Amino acid sequence: MVQRFRFDLKATDGRARTGVIATPRGEIRTPAFMPVGTAGTVKAMLPEQVRATGADIVLGNTYHLMLRPTAERIARLGGLHRFMNWDRPILTDSGGFQVMSLAELRKLSEKGVQFRSHIDGSRHELTPERSMEIQRLLGSDIVMCFDECPALPADEARVAESMRLSMRWAARSKEAFGDRPGHALFGIQQGGVTQELRAESAEALTAIGFDGYAIGGLAVGEGQEAMFGVLEYAPDMLPEGRPRYLMGVGKPDDIVGAVARGVDMMDCVLPTRSGRTGQAWTRRGQVNIKNARHADDPRPLDENCTCPACRHYSRAYLHHVFRAGEMISGMLLTWHNLHYFQSLMAGMRDAIAEGRFDGWQAQFHSDRAQGDIEPL
Ligand SMILES: [Zn+2]
Repeated sequence: MVQRFRFDLKATDGRARTGVIATPRGEIRTPAFMPVGTAGTVKAMLPEQVRATGADIVLGNTYHLMLRPTAERIARLGGLHRFMNWDRPILTDSGGFQVMSLAELRKLSEKGVQFRSHIDGSRHELTPERSMEIQRLLGSDIVMCFDECPALPADEARVAESMRLSMRWAARSKEAFGDRPGHALFGIQQGGVTQELRAESAEALTAIGFDGYAIGGLAVGEGQEAMFGVLEYAPDMLPEGRPRYLMGVGKPDDIVGAVARGVDMMDCVLPTRSGRTGQAWTRRGQVNIKNARHADDPRPLDENCTCPACRHYSRAYLHHVFRAGEMISGMLLTWHNLHYFQSLMAGMRDAIAEGRFDGWQAQFHSDRAQGDIEPL
């Protein structure tokens, strides 16, 4: 068994990369999509089902878990892997982003952020040191630095000030993380959509030295064009031999575009959240299962998909259980969506390894351009 965290780049095709992250809890094949298990569960899915879709790693949220059931309780119960019955790698975020988006009465200082819980109003504090402690208590395999995410829109001076604070917090995160063989700490590049700030941030992080590097502060409403604009240069500013993780992305075409620009890892609530609101993602785009056109349709969501929702159930059934508010609706659509996202990643990994990623991308875009199958 591998005892240390390691990244082996296996092949590149243009700027796209494929490789393997080795951890004591198993390998993560890249490019990798990480399903989000916010509160210790990938919603509507059993862990073995998540694994069956092809996921090598899931994400947990520090902010949610510190409030409920608390990191200390999870540690007493044997850590997050055992608690949620997922024995493969887990990446935890630092709590920084969700404090900014969910918590109440936030007070930001050089030291960290004080806030009140959105659940019961109780007072809490997150600092780089506390975030490292929580992620250690959870037993996370890939730990993220504590960073500050300015609310958008923000002017360049505010983005610069925030990025520099995050870089000081990155140094404190590294110090507090210490030496933990088998566990990795990732730095997070900030700097908004300004190339000079992204370069300054990458330089600061590289000087500190991390096991991997995330691109933060994107997928926050700037739009695909602006995001791809940053991805034209941001991944190449980060060390080539370390994994690059684009946080919070995204839709299938965002994911493909990010991989084409040198990103190795991504996470998003989209496949799971969509699954609970009647939205399916297929090779041919998005399907709204609520629509009346599906009520009498005996065909599967996608005839080429091998997930249980497509092998055993019709569009008519999926439409019916969604309309009837049955729990199996969220279960089947989530399974399909995660299966589709993972098959997308597998397809890209194979294409990059075989040097045919351009052709793969052309097929991806032409399948989507067809749109959903014609109504009966
Ligand atoms: Zn399917």
